[in-house]
Amino acid sequence: MVVRTYISTMLRRLQRTLTKSGKRAGAEVKVHHLTEEPTRAWETINNSQTVIQVTQMPHDTQISSKELRIVCVSDTHVLVEDVPNFIPPGDILIHAGDFGHGGAPVQVKRFNDFLGTLPHSVKIVIAGNHDQMFDERIVRHKGFVCQLIFLTETELDTQLQNYGVQSCRDILTECVYLEDSSIKICGVNFYGSPWQPKHGRVPGAFRYERGQQGLDIWNKIPNETDILITHGPPLGHGDLVDYSRDNHCGCVELLSTVQQRVKPEYHVFGHIHEGYGVTTDRKTTYINASSVDRWYSDLNKPIVFDFPIPKGHSKEELAHVKPCHLIRNKVRRFPAD
Ligand SMILES: [Zn+2]
Ligand SMILES: [Zn+2]
Repeated sequence: MVVRTYISTMLRRLQRTLTKSGKRAGAEVKVHHLTEEPTRAWETINNSQTVIQVTQMPHDTQISSKELRIVCVSDTHVLVEDVPNFIPPGDILIHAGDFGHGGAPVQVKRFNDFLGTLPHSVKIVIAGNHDQMFDERIVRHKGFVCQLIFLTETELDTQLQNYGVQSCRDILTECVYLEDSSIKICGVNFYGSPWQPKHGRVPGAFRYERGQQGLDIWNKIPNETDILITHGPPLGHGDLVDYSRDNHCGCVELLSTVQQRVKPEYHVFGHIHEGYGVTTDRKTTYINASSVDRWYSDLNKPIVFDFPIPKGHSKEELAHVKPCHLIRNKVRRFPAD
């Protein structure tokens, strides 16, 4: 069923009230016995699930002073920086990972410069599997990382020296970078995490084994999260990789965490380019914001929504949010401290 109109402000406010009041603190999420077979896992829970396609809000919808206009993109893979007016105006830009394509310093610089040209008061960015140089486990193995990003060690060092930095992370100075961490902006809680399940033997950053390892990552998401940002999708929403075979690849423990414990108003993600679009289970709105398509050729429009600013807060607070890196809530501000 397709909802013909996007969710109205009033409905979202009602949804927010109901969701918050329905939260049960400490509801324990368990590993699903079919965690390694997401399509089969979905078949077992499908009957009790609601997945409704949501028509997207037009970009030219008037921006209200009482709501945050949030613009979502993901998986831009250094392919949108030269596209005129690709990103519509708004208060907060969310990028759900894979801003690079391999993650060489020159790509991070290009992305960071692009962010610097955008008018949004706050830009929130997480990494994805293609942002290899943001994963400390990978960065420790310099030779391996150079293979992944197709640079020699000398070329990597030269690029970093050219930018006057020691690591790729240092280049990203135009945003709030979240890595298993949260930030409260205008009274709204955002949490960001770059992780996604391992996929065969394909190397990549921030990958986990399905099951307990994934659940341990999702257990760090605070209950009070309003807008959850992950690189990978949950099971059943924006996670189909092969429509003809109904092939799901989302994380069942992430879905369980969202539905049973955290219950955020919005869950923004990407990674599965062909899963682009918006769905709802009537409690959480799921946004797969992948900007490039499966073939890295056509572009999907950024997805926008308005989030009511809680009482006692205003947009003036946006001006106080400075770019920083929040890695497991350890704060690093710029210039480097
Ligand atoms: Zn991608
Ligand atoms: Zn990805």
